Amino acid sequence: MKPLETAPPILNTIKVNEIFYSIQGESTWAGTPCAFVRLAGCNCRCLYCDTSYALHEGTDRSFEDIVNTVKKYSPAIVEVTGGEPLIHRETPKLCQELLKLCHPVLVETNGTLDISVLPSACIRIMDIKCPSSQVDVPFLRENIHHLNKNDECKMVISNREDFDWAVDFIKQTNLHTLCTTLFSPNHNWLTLKELAQWILSDQTPVRLGFQLHKTIWDPNTRGV
Ligand code: SF4
Repeated sequence: MKPLETAPPILNTIKVNEIFYSIQGESTWAGTPCAFVRLAGCNCRCLYCDTSYALHEGTDRSFEDIVNTVKKYSPAIVEVTGGEPLIHRETPKLCQELLKLCHPVLVETNGTLDISVLPSACIRIMDIKCPSSQVDVPFLRENIHHLNKNDECKMVISNREDFDWAVDFIKQTNLHTLCTTLFSPNHNWLTLKELAQWILSDQTPVRLGFQLHKTIWDPNTRGV
């Protein structure tokens, strides 16, 4: 008989791409100084991924090292991002450690993996991918049921097809009644003005978002 397979233990280390201090750019927290912990690796390959360097590059770092690095910034908020943070079984435990240091801890996720594993004190910022992303992994619909009023969903809109798809998604799921929902223009493909006009003319119940960090800094710069 084949022996039962046991899951490997959850460690106190995790693969980190970079830790840096910058301005939060893509949520209702935009404008707030924030310490970012960017984890390495992702289960998706989006066409317009702007952090492709994080998909493969990373170093194993202890939670103690990560917390001590974050602590140096005395941040108002911390964001765990990627890549996709939820590909790591250690991410919920890392968030627990960061919550001892700072509230809130934001976690940016692509919504394809179970968000309910995260501590309830975390704020989940779920990036629901529109067709232009050409994402190859389906959104996990169950995640809709785990959202609360503190969480946020954002959808990056590249063109009218994305906009219509996103509006339809909202109608089907009532997403805007569950948490703040933001539509942001894809920095290279659509202007803020065009998206604002579509939101207004269609009376879409969302908030206009934008990628503030890409306005402040060179969009090709790492660690911002
Ligand atoms: S989910 Fe995010 S990190 Fe992963 S490929 Fe898409 S844009 Fe890049």
